Amino acid sequence: MKRTYLDYAATTPARPEVVEAMRPYFTEAFGNPSTIYSYGQEAKGAVEAARAKIARLINAREEEIVFTSGGTEADNFALTGVAYAAEGKKDHIITTVIEHHAILETTKFLETRGFKVTYLPVDKYGLVNPDDVKKALTPRTALISVMHANNEVGTVQPVEDIGRIAGEAGVYFHTDAVQTAGHVGVDVEKLGVNLLSISGHKLYGPKGVGVLYIRRGTKISPLLHGGEQEKRRRAGTENVPGIVGLGVAAEMAQGELDEESERLRQLRDRLSQGLKEKIEYLHFNGHPVQRLPNNVNICVGFVEGESIILNLDLEGICASTGSACTSASSEPSHVLSALGITSELAHSSLRFTFGKWTTEKDIDRVLDVLPRIVAKLRAMSPLLKSRK
Ligand code: PLP
Repeated sequence: MKRTYLDYAATTPARPEVVEAMRPYFTEAFGNPSTIYSYGQEAKGAVEAARAKIARLINAREEEIVFTSGGTEADNFALTGVAYAAEGKKDHIITTVIEHHAILETTKFLETRGFKVTYLPVDKYGLVNPDDVKKALTPRTALISVMHANNEVGTVQPVEDIGRIAGEAGVYFHTDAVQTAGHVGVDVEKLGVNLLSISGHKLYGPKGVGVLYIRRGTKISPLLHGGEQEKRRRAGTENVPGIVGLGVAAEMAQGELDEESERLRQLRDRLSQGLKEKIEYLHFNGHPVQRLPNNVNICVGFVEGESIILNLDLEGICASTGSACTSASSEPSHVLSALGITSELAHSSLRFTFGKWTTEKDIDRVLDVLPRIVAKLRAMSPLLKSRK
């Protein structure tokens, strides 16, 4: 059975060109970039070429790009690095309740080390109010961290406005751009950020590689200590194949960005419209307009999201519950809860995210299969029966 993959926010396949570009750096060009002979210099050259490509994608300078092991490390590095560098002078961080766990678990850790954290609320669409950021600032604020777009509901934050507020206050501003870099325009100057996180496997690059953009002059302590790689900001022998792959992925994404985001927007709207017409008791999550072009997140009243996902999987369609439930926990998603969605409704959530290899045919398949699954599950739903 041909499988239809609609979970690009979780991860993307690497482009064939990415895999091809990486291949020599496992074998004939395997050198350690810290060595001075030709093998090493060849690898170093490849790392620097990739750095230039990432810098171009986000309008940064090459020396402002630091390679990491992924988005999680970039987020940890930004928060912990700035907090530790400010220790003794500033001890306050502002973030939001809908950040990825890579941020929220890091702020939780920093709280155990004496830092104070303000968690800003969001409105029913998942939007942060820039005025709330302004009000939360204190003379002891070291950092503001607000994600560019939310990975679950797709809402894009008013990052430029927050960047202006941070700039006026002279406070560092970090944004987690893991879901946006390579998908929508990301320009560190326009956004007014000091730090920005990127992950390779969300933009058709390899897993286990990412970037923290660090604006020139930003005071930040390293997370990893050891060798002098990455200008002493991130120790450890570079993941040369991964970095090369990420460079190619960034370059290709940049070339296709406008056309591809428009194509995805049309697919998104086709799915949303079709679902509205075919399924009753649907609730669309996230902002109706200020949202990622490739994300549809819905709650399907009177059905368990997980049951739908399992039934879709039987039909060869891969999507996500969007509620990030794990078998160990039946807690609804912190993001949906923050939007004011009841626990019952949150458990019925579904997230479809599209990408490069998604076609209209895939969308139409969902529009054919999903209404049947929902009807079947609802026929067994005591909740719906009691309502009727
Ligand atoms: N931040 C956001 C918004 C994400 O969606 C993810 C991945 O799901 C991460 C951070 C973590 O990135 P990585 O998987 O590269 O560690």
